Amino acid sequence: MNVPEMFGSMVFNDSIMRKMLPKSVYQSLKNTINEGKALDEDVADIVASAMKEWAVSKGATHFTHWFQPMTGITAEKHDSFLSVDKNGSVIMDFSGKELTKGEPDASSFPSGGLRATFEARGYTAWDPTSYAFIKDDTLCIPTAFCSYTGEILDKKTPLLRSMDAISREAVRALRLFGKHAKRVNATIGAEQEYFLIDKKDYEKRLDLRLTGRSLIGAPSAKGQEMEDHYFGSIRPRVKDFMKDLDQELWKLGITAKTEHNEVAPCQHEMAPIFDNANKATDSNQLTMEMMKKVAERHGFACLLHEKPFEGINGSGKHNNWALSTDEGENLLDPGKTPMENAQFLFFLTAIIKAVDEYQDLLRISVASAGNDHRLGANEAPPAIVSIFVGDELESVIEAIIEDKMISKNSLSSHLDIGTSVLPKLARDNSDRNRTSPFAFTGNKFEFRMPGSSFNIACTNVMLNTAVADALKDFSDELEGSEDFNSSLKKLIKRELKKHRRILFNGNGYSKEWEAEAERRGLSNYKRTPDALIHYCDEKNVALFERHRIYSLKEMESRLEISLDEYKKAIHIEAMTMIEMLRRQILPSAMRFCSYLASSLEVKERNGLHVNADKLLCLKLSALCDDLLAKTDELDECVSACPSEVESAAFYAADKIIVKMEEARKISDELEKMTDKSFWPIPTYSEILFYV
Ligand code: ADP
Ligand code: MG
Repeated sequence: MNVPEMFGSMVFNDSIMRKMLPKSVYQSLKNTINEGKALDEDVADIVASAMKEWAVSKGATHFTHWFQPMTGITAEKHDSFLSVDKNGSVIMDFSGKELTKGEPDASSFPSGGLRATFEARGYTAWDPTSYAFIKDDTLCIPTAFCSYTGEILDKKTPLLRSMDAISREAVRALRLFGKHAKRVNATIGAEQEYFLIDKKDYEKRLDLRLTGRSLIGAPSAKGQEMEDHYFGSIRPRVKDFMKDLDQELWKLGITAKTEHNEVAPCQHEMAPIFDNANKATDSNQLTMEMMKKVAERHGFACLLHEKPFEGINGSGKHNNWALSTDEGENLLDPGKTPMENAQFLFFLTAIIKAVDEYQDLLRISVASAGNDHRLGANEAPPAIVSIFVGDELESVIEAIIEDKMISKNSLSSHLDIGTSVLPKLARDNSDRNRTSPFAFTGNKFEFRMPGSSFNIACTNVMLNTAVADALKDFSDELEGSEDFNSSLKKLIKRELKKHRRILFNGNGYSKEWEAEAERRGLSNYKRTPDALIHYCDEKNVALFERHRIYSLKEMESRLEISLDEYKKAIHIEAMTMIEMLRRQILPSAMRFCSYLASSLEVKERNGLHVNADKLLCLKLSALCDDLLAKTDELDECVSACPSEVESAAFYAADKIIVKMEEARKISDELEKMTDKSFWPIPTYSEILFYV
């Protein structure tokens, strides 16, 4: 296998463009990509024609505008290149217009009231900063999706805007340090966790198929307590899957780098090499799609749900985030010289301020029905946002705040920003705090709260915009200051002191931290609706308006979509559960009861001892009574759900989930006592320890 040759072979990337486009066209396309300049129609026509020629040579017959509507998945509508020319002959055609603008029949995508279905449709617009690629014989063109009145209807557009905001502010701030970068990119490496289970088991479970998670199921005798899965040897079947997945991703220009087992049985992870936020987001969306597709080929089902199985670890997506200049300088690298250190501390302070002031937005960006099962559970960071910087950096911060001396290797150095050197920070990953939701890992931050099924755009919109805002405040203050060094020192000290409460190096899973966080005034929104209702808080609206990311109207629509999505997810779970209980679990348990009863009768007739049979039969019957009653209660509860979207979301959290948990308990009791041959669905131990 020739990896370099395979890599990006299905991508219309820079080297293909350079090869296929006339020099002037290539240059104006590059200007569009690098500086956001508009592309004129003639140029678009030439690019489209080259793209088509390339795609057809790779066997593509169709093209699609590939976009990321508010559903979180990617959407596509395929058109063929087929066209009829003047003489009536069939030709393969693709115009600049078709490349740059599309009109999907998108009236059924969620818009949160922004676009009534009878109105003009939304349109998709080519995003030339992410490369087009071929998937399933189709040329996929990454696009943004908006309404004709200009409101954004997707996840990509705000991400691009937030990338511009942080670039603008970081470039401006760098000038204070005598640097003249043209562009600063947010860089992202998204580590993707997932479960692979046997497809045969998956097919037998309605809950996994319809909701992505098991709604019932008693714990397996063996779970993850032996800690033997993490980095353990990989099953040959899984290894084949990973190899195949790597190759599919490489073809699409996705830098799949590490594949390993995770903590829970059947759980694995894939990490790519980081890229700019836009490409990393597109790549992650494609990665999830490919994981599902490749799994099928290997007789697996890939579960991307945050909590497919109760009692064992769920899946997240670690969003590694840093800032990089067009010259390749990582602004989160502490550097070696005093000036580099000062610049690092400046950016670090901006991030600390941003995360503290907009902790609610970060929490909101990871809120979903699925992720609620994960945040705050034992394996995932809590619902409280805090930052881990490590002991060394923490002591530097302390020293700055307290004007203290810090000593390193018996050498005492007064930390006077701009004139002295930071102690060398260890880059050792081994001792970093796994319980922290937002951890500094040497030259980047790792945000661990996003759920495994999420589109990472939202999280990065929040992060980019909040940090851009902090940088803006700092530059406003420092520009024009007479003595830059002393003003900088004063600012850093003041801001670190002010936002110190967000720093926490201890155990994020502990009960004590919850109490301590409350004392510090940090927010702790346990459930999705608790978090979501703060989305349109005044300070948040002001932030997004200030940086022209969202209008109030767009935010209100997003809030409505998220609340509705939450309610719908729980509604579907409840209905699925009711169906399984009524049509699978109860009938099976009752069949086992009547089997026991009739064998009991035979035994009694033959003068045999029947105590155990009787006891078991009685227990099972009583549980069936309870389960039937609880199922009816759940059904009534779902029917009584209010229609207004916010009340419905809270009703789902307060009422429906509680009833589901009660029903599950009874069902799981029944499972433990029912003859295996009567139980209608695969159990946890069968699913998790497949052979
Ligand atoms: P872990 O031990 O958490 O798996 P890794 O060192 O494997 O950590 O890195 C995790 C991810 O962080 C990878 O996707 C990697 O590409 C990404 N990463 C590394 N440097 C940066 C950076 N400067 N910006 C964004 N992501 C980065
Ligand atoms: Mg990690």
